[in-house]
Amino acid sequence: MSSNSEAIWRHVEAKQEEAIALSDRVWGMPELAYAETRSAAEHTAYLKAEGFRVTENLAEIPTAMMGEAGEEGPVIAILGEFDALPGLSNEAGVTEHRPIPGDGNGHGCGHNLLGAASLLAATAVKDWLAANGLKGRVRYYGCPAEEGGAAKGFMARAGLFDDVDIAISWHPSSFAGVNEPLSLANTRIDFTFHGRASHAAASPHLGRSALDAVELMSVGVNYLREHIPQESRIHYAYLDAGGVAPNVVQAKAKVRYLIRAADVASLNKLVERVRKIGDGAALMTETRVETTVISAVSNLLGNDPLERLMQDNLDRLGPPPFDAEDRKRAAEFQATLSEEDIASAFRKVGLPRTDAPLTDRIVPLDSKRAPMVGSTDVGDVSWVVPTVQARGATHAIGTPLHSWQATAQGKLPHAHKGLVHVAKVMAGTAVDLIQRPDVIAAAKADHKERSGGTYVSPLPADAKPAIGMSLAV
Ligand SMILES: [Zn+2]
Repeated sequence: MSSNSEAIWRHVEAKQEEAIALSDRVWGMPELAYAETRSAAEHTAYLKAEGFRVTENLAEIPTAMMGEAGEEGPVIAILGEFDALPGLSNEAGVTEHRPIPGDGNGHGCGHNLLGAASLLAATAVKDWLAANGLKGRVRYYGCPAEEGGAAKGFMARAGLFDDVDIAISWHPSSFAGVNEPLSLANTRIDFTFHGRASHAAASPHLGRSALDAVELMSVGVNYLREHIPQESRIHYAYLDAGGVAPNVVQAKAKVRYLIRAADVASLNKLVERVRKIGDGAALMTETRVETTVISAVSNLLGNDPLERLMQDNLDRLGPPPFDAEDRKRAAEFQATLSEEDIASAFRKVGLPRTDAPLTDRIVPLDSKRAPMVGSTDVGDVSWVVPTVQARGATHAIGTPLHSWQATAQGKLPHAHKGLVHVAKVMAGTAVDLIQRPDVIAAAKADHKERSGGTYVSPLPADAKPAIGMSLAV
């Protein structure tokens, strides 16, 4: 097995320069959910140049694409992302908050690295299959709008993963290890209230305020929070407060609710309660409420055989080869973080606090983790097909995701080394699977036990990808 690992790692190294260059280019064109036109074009061009058979416009999403290589055998999917975030622009490599003039977007979640490492892993597996004349197919799925749009939920609903045997992905992090398969189901629902405009002073009795309805809905939901399961979360953002004129009764207002729960069943119950509050706010204000589901994702399912296999690959590979200069740069970024940022990063993965600015170890599989729980649209893929994810060590320990510090480190040598390292982990796991039908069978048995063998999309039948969401908001 170890000579096999060496071979696949060499295939990764052979193509690492192209993948790093692609990551840097995508970093330099940060695009928001579903508007990742140039970034997706970069990924498509890379796939075509590498000889993948490319399908574009997946699930009627213009920035979703898939590249496949190899013949027959098991189908291994490697998932990538490339969307950026608003308000997280920062100059590369500087240890202060210094946005680049422009639209303010930035790669504060490292998805430039995420897509490039997954492409690199898929490319290495393709080359390894060809070099060894083996049966097996590897696919790269370019998945847009992870931040806010949850495109994988629509891609899973469209059946795009139905003939996949195993899915592999990763996320940038402070540490290298298997990503704990824990995430909340969630949904984003827009509540639009329609009232009636009037002169707020001269004829207040003729107006019906949509803004009042949004505010009363907030009050109702604030009380609801006292009586929900403790892992549930409800947050909101005003998308339209009805205008800038206090002397006009607001005829229209819109609020987006982001509702999370442990699983889809408890999410559905909670959504019903939030909807009742929206209806109540409309009743109280004599307005009308319309709702649109923007996205919905399932909680993640873990998979023991796949997690063990990925851990074996991590242990064989060892930590990323960071050097003294990388540690020096990372320490400069750590100096901009709080002690709590750094301590909580160690706590999350269950490692003892050290002074290391970059990780020098692999997180053990049995580590006593204390993860903070968010959501990911990988959840829906994990209900369709056995799925495993790595965490890749790309940032100074303690760097919060969705921060300017994460953006600023996205082109540094330590981020590049983390990219190549995690590509080796994913490619190594994939080639092990191609040669180990017994592990694929065990992963499928584990998956069937956890999922019950059926996936029901949490999206309503009429929900569509919110392709224009980054333009409208
Ligand atoms: Zn992310």
